[in-house]
Amino acid sequence: MRRPQWAVHVFYADHFILPLPAGHRFPMAKYGRLRERLAAECPQIRLGQALPASDGELALVHAPAYIQAIQTGALSAAAQREIGFPWSPAMAERARRSVGATIQACRAAMSGEGLAANIAGGTHHSYADKGSGFCVFNDAAVAARLMQAEHARQHRARGPLKVAIVDLDVHQGNGTARIFADDDSVFTLSLHGEKNFPFRKEPSDLDVELPDGTGDVPYLEALERALDELERRFEPGLVIYLAGADPHEGDRLGRLKLTFDGLEARDRRVMDWAWQRRLPLAFAMAGGYGTDMESTVQVQMNTYRVALEYHARWAAAARAGERAAVTAA
Ligand SMILES: [Zn+2]
Repeated sequence: MRRPQWAVHVFYADHFILPLPAGHRFPMAKYGRLRERLAAECPQIRLGQALPASDGELALVHAPAYIQAIQTGALSAAAQREIGFPWSPAMAERARRSVGATIQACRAAMSGEGLAANIAGGTHHSYADKGSGFCVFNDAAVAARLMQAEHARQHRARGPLKVAIVDLDVHQGNGTARIFADDDSVFTLSLHGEKNFPFRKEPSDLDVELPDGTGDVPYLEALERALDELERRFEPGLVIYLAGADPHEGDRLGRLKLTFDGLEARDRRVMDWAWQRRLPLAFAMAGGYGTDMESTVQVQMNTYRVALEYHARWAAAARAGERAAVTAA
């Protein structure tokens, strides 16, 4: 195994500008802003440009005809409306790189670093053969299948890699749920607003529906029960965490009432749960539509601060392991 590098690896593709018409409601600027703040405030983070996912990687989840339509722009007007972004070559490139960023984060986490991230991603409304709700390709789904393939190549004797996708974006992970509906090797957990988009939900392995206005305490209790149930039913080897900022009370689409502290406690609970079990965890930012964009970015900065703490634990454990090996030798 290569020696882990003790920085948190975070992959970005926000410099591939997706041209949007004036007044478009997607807050594209939040990614660049988050990257600026991470670079300025978190020296322990190493930012890396995401590589584009290949056709072969995408085809682990997506239909070849859909991959081709995104590549060439042969998408109907209705399909573009459902995605919510007009097609352009940059849109296609950015979509591939966002998947690439989650793949790279999973690889880094699996290589012994424990935790790594995609500065965007979490595009969970994307199905095998269509995009929806600002989601072109499903990054977590492609990364899960690719990590399974890489694991099978190296460690076939240990059995298949099982992946838990913990989706705490406020919207249901309908695309992800559908993609893995008949796949016992991936557990899909979604905690989401019951009255929110998508209005036709797909059954995940575990869905937790929250009423409008849910605040910190009932949310955290629901999360605790969900993690308990996940653990009873499944034994993951990798966690992909969608740390959506849109349950925040300042979000214009979220309809829930979590505070900054509540969301930080949420992130800490998920990361602590994974750490206690020594499960590598890759996270993606998923949604965030703050009335004030800075509040969305602040929620995400807090996610990174918690991640840095848990990454430091992985690093300390690895150093202790090296010292023990030296002493034993
Ligand atoms: Zn969302």
